[in-house]
Amino acid sequence: MIDKQTLKLRCSEAIDQNREAILAFADDIYRHPEMGYHEFRSTEKMKEVFQQLGLAVEDGIAYTGCSAKAGREDGPVVAIMGELDSLNCPDHPDCDANGNVHSCGHHAQLAYLYGCAVGLVQSGVLPSLDGAVKFIAIPAEEYVDADYRSGLVAQGKIKYYGGKQEYLLRGGMDDVDMVLQSHLINTQSKDIVCCLDTDCDGFIGKSVRFIGRAAHAGFAPSEGINALNMAQLALNGIHTLRETFRDEDKVRVSAIITKCGEMVNTVPAEAEMQLMVRAASLDAMLDSSRKVDRALKAGALAIGGKVEIQNQIGYLPLHSSRELTAVYKENVKNYLGCTDSAFIPQYVSAGSTDLGDISHIVPCMHIWTGGISGALHASDFKVTDQEAAFILPAKMMAMTVIDLLFDKAGCAKAVMDAFHPVFTKEEYLAFLREHSGLDFFDGSTL
Ligand SMILES: [Zn+2]
Ligand SMILES: [Zn+2]
Repeated sequence: MIDKQTLKLRCSEAIDQNREAILAFADDIYRHPEMGYHEFRSTEKMKEVFQQLGLAVEDGIAYTGCSAKAGREDGPVVAIMGELDSLNCPDHPDCDANGNVHSCGHHAQLAYLYGCAVGLVQSGVLPSLDGAVKFIAIPAEEYVDADYRSGLVAQGKIKYYGGKQEYLLRGGMDDVDMVLQSHLINTQSKDIVCCLDTDCDGFIGKSVRFIGRAAHAGFAPSEGINALNMAQLALNGIHTLRETFRDEDKVRVSAIITKCGEMVNTVPAEAEMQLMVRAASLDAMLDSSRKVDRALKAGALAIGGKVEIQNQIGYLPLHSSRELTAVYKENVKNYLGCTDSAFIPQYVSAGSTDLGDISHIVPCMHIWTGGISGALHASDFKVTDQEAAFILPAKMMAMTVIDLLFDKAGCAKAVMDAFHPVFTKEEYLAFLREHSGLDFFDGSTL
């Protein structure tokens, strides 16, 4: 049996030998950004590099996206996931004609996906491991572009806005035992290699329509039922609820008014709002969502109107696997010869990602790796260190797979034993169904 260190060395050498190809691939993806569920070219490019490595590729895995699996079928399956989608950020200097740009750095995730495949497949180390690896290029992580996605839903092309949710629904995760993912972040210091664990919020999205009655604003406002006033009262109600949110639940309620009447001389008959209710646990998500619904209904009730609340479970909170992170961290320490001071132990955020959904079913690692300046989603986002952003995560993730699957996959099995799933896939899908849907309240009858 070849020892583990030799396998890791071979893996690292293969990635180094293909360094230029990996960097060129990252650059190509960066120059051709595609928003979620538009990633046809990026999927094609990912497919090409997998096929060059002799892998069989499955296409259209979650409308867009592709995957490739290699290794032994009779052991655990470790998935390495990279996100395909860009953002729209028209003030970024590198954006395309449509304003699209990889200002969340997802091109780096596709680069490590390619690099990992080189490290594990081309190096020939995979037959020495007791399990399989599944490389997954997944679409649509950013929860944006609602009109386009609701159009895809209406056409029956997708069911969920989030690519990982869609992938779960379609059975892509059925053969996966754990997931490794890394994301770029500004670590603020060259001495900090990465931030290790992630705990972030989940959220419920709400599309709200207040329905009143139009009337002449001068002649007969007394005949009208003012929908804008309902929205205004609802917002006040939500603000007064904020003191009831506990600090540890990290509740965030964001709201915008997207429609509030047509003509100033007419009492607005309709007002529309979009809301996001975020929280760090499922219970807190549901509890704060109920409170917000109460405030929305109170707005309608006070004015004697009606309200439609379209609830949609967005993403679930993410609690990354400490066991998987520990394996990754050890590889970084050994490879770079660094100490604990090179790591930020935990990133606690009220942001959200659809990896949270998967983390309720199988253990998920989510590392934040450096190599950029500026901020995610901002016009000053820039990769400043290709080694740190593209090459290091590829090597560390491939080495983590070696640790997990080496010697009867004992390490992977220990990670699985330590994990307590919140949901089975069926329970997860039932949860989404149960808490998504239309709630109608008629305050005109009181
Ligand atoms: Zn992002
Ligand atoms: Zn991102």
